[in-house]
Amino acid sequence: MASSTYDSIYRLIESLPVVSTHEHHLPDDFQNSLTLDRILERERSYVGWVLDLTPGLDASSRAEFLAQCRHNSYYVWLEKGIQRVYGFREKITSENWDRVSQQISDFHADPDAHLRILTETGRYRRAIEDAYFDPGSDLGHPEIFASNFRTDMFVRCFHPDVLDHDSMNPFRHYPGIPSGNFDDYLDAVQARVLRWRENGGVALKSASAYDRPLSYGEGDRAAASQVFGRHPETVSPGERAAYEDFVLNWFCRMAVRLEVPFQVHTGLALLSGSRPLLFEPTIMRHPDVHFVLFHAGFPWYGEIAGLAHNHANVSLDMVWAPLISATAAVAALHQFLEVARSSDRIAWGSDTWTSEEAIGALLAWQHVVATVLSEKVDTGYFDMAEAEALVHKLMYRNAARLYGFDLA
Ligand SMILES: [Zn+2]
Repeated sequence: MASSTYDSIYRLIESLPVVSTHEHHLPDDFQNSLTLDRILERERSYVGWVLDLTPGLDASSRAEFLAQCRHNSYYVWLEKGIQRVYGFREKITSENWDRVSQQISDFHADPDAHLRILTETGRYRRAIEDAYFDPGSDLGHPEIFASNFRTDMFVRCFHPDVLDHDSMNPFRHYPGIPSGNFDDYLDAVQARVLRWRENGGVALKSASAYDRPLSYGEGDRAAASQVFGRHPETVSPGERAAYEDFVLNWFCRMAVRLEVPFQVHTGLALLSGSRPLLFEPTIMRHPDVHFVLFHAGFPWYGEIAGLAHNHANVSLDMVWAPLISATAAVAALHQFLEVARSSDRIAWGSDTWTSEEAIGALLAWQHVVATVLSEKVDTGYFDMAEAEALVHKLMYRNAARLYGFDLA
């Protein structure tokens, strides 16, 4: 039974706007074609992507799919999101599958339905879009989305035949970008990033922990220049790492110049290489860069709590964490509130591709916030007035302040 403190904090949460620090919301044409099956596709939901489970089309393979994933957190919160958006309480089963799917499809006949779910059901005011498929895009909806700029393909790729983990490559994505001379190439990347910032971009973003370990060295321009343009078969692992080190540090210096935070994926990528502590030398090398460490560093949330304790240039972001495990996110948020230099340093994003899963992620986050703050009140750590002030910070104010959103 939730305490009355939980209930009253939850009611306050539900009355407040939401600012999300991180989404992979897909473009209109995909959203307008949604069905239950499409929501669950690989690379469109965590059930499909991480669990590597997608339903077949007949009743028995749908029943088998549900039996496989029903107790996993990604499925649990996605189902809660769908229930909330479409106003039903029963579980999704192979029997009601087609009816639910038809309801989703009918709703998205309105081309703005996916945006209305975010702004009406989800109370979203602003969100940062990470369009890794089109870096810097706001999906044509600048009233909701501001963009971050994904650095991964630039860090990873020194030749047209090298792809990052999203199969992106700058020489393929930007035909005409200089490929013969490293200085000309960097000038072109810089011009592109400056233009993105002038057009309202709000953060740099690295998800390179899916490509390599977070243990970046200092890097060296001459060494990187030696690698640039060479065929990957002629480049040793050490040379490749040196190139990546240089370009990642180059983007750190760009973050200072652009006056934007640098969002960094930690935890759950190439697993052992995504340990947050591996990133500490880079945090210390760039004291003037504001690093936002993502995903609560799960499963190493204690490590990013330690980094935030020791380093003034670190913020903590709970993005994705409540969906991965609300239990772990509760433990993490307790620690973060206790050790962060300021409670202004904690924010959240849904990290999802569809509005339905975004609502599930938001429900998970609301549950985590209400649980942690009510426990803090009920155990006498602080009083209800502090909990209420924190709710405003965690749901929208911290993110709005850090990324410069005017919510007035
Ligand atoms: Zn993400």
